[in-house]
Amino acid sequence: MRKASYSKSRRRSVSIQNKPRIIAVANQKGGVGKTTTAINLGTALAAVGETVLIIDLDPQGNASTGLGIARKASQKSSYHVLIGEASLDQVIIESGIPRLHCAPSTMDLLGAELELAEFDRKAYRLADAIKTMQESGNTARNYSYILVDCPPSLNLLTINSLSAADAILVPLQCEFFALEGLSQLLKTVERVKSTLNPRLAIQGVVLTMFDRRNSLSEQVAEDVRSVLGDKVYQTVIPRNVRVSEAPSYGKPVLLYDNGCLGSQAYIRLASEVIRRERDLRAA
Ligand code: ADP
Ligand code: MG
Repeated sequence: MRKASYSKSRRRSVSIQNKPRIIAVANQKGGVGKTTTAINLGTALAAVGETVLIIDLDPQGNASTGLGIARKASQKSSYHVLIGEASLDQVIIESGIPRLHCAPSTMDLLGAELELAEFDRKAYRLADAIKTMQESGNTARNYSYILVDCPPSLNLLTINSLSAADAILVPLQCEFFALEGLSQLLKTVERVKSTLNPRLAIQGVVLTMFDRRNSLSEQVAEDVRSVLGDKVYQTVIPRNVRVSEAPSYGKPVLLYDNGCLGSQAYIRLASEVIRRERDLRAA
């Protein structure tokens, strides 16, 4: 008896200690670097010893394929998790990169929004699935970070990810209309915070596809910093051809070419994210 109660309380304390930090990588604009950031930040975090799960919540499934996971129609995916046909545990695939796992998506997600409308706790389907996984006591699923790659929309899939998250990380492309739509996104964050998930914080805003040769990039970066201040990470992700080539090899850029400027930037971003998580946790 003594032994049983000891292991039970021990398991509980381990799961509390190992509570993952859940970060939604979101921006309703497409093509701003959400998926690239989820994959490469995830890889950089795993490289420094964190245990990472990437949940692909975009029907396009670029995070899954970018990690070299072939998508099969028959596969169980994040869709099945949301509609309650599978547990998160059952759909997770090892990426081949140490300490980095992925819950892939399938095209079924395209119809998920309509289907979810009929469910109880429709905005908490992902949060509930993560909680069930944590409580399962399966130590192989003790992640220190869970990154959710969101679709380019403020739909129910994105709301599910914001309801589950501790924080949102927003990739912002260094282009003329960078700030357009951002206020809508921040309003959504506030609304989620006041209704669905009071603990939701802003991890930060990362400037992506920064082009040193283009003075517009410099101008946009300056404008964004003047509006958002220290919400913007010091690290800027440069436009780098190696970053855009890597997904076609089914690899994060850190594996494809770990010395290139894009890889180096994602390693710096990972250390900034870890530092901010420590501060958020301490707050
Ligand atoms: P989102 O997920 O927001 O739609 P992606 O991460 O898929 O955006 O990026 C859009 C496109 O831009 C992809 O083709 C990707 O390879 C490319 N891309 C992203 N970041 C960079 C970068 N730093 N340098 C060059 N190309 C990039
Ligand atoms: Mg994407």
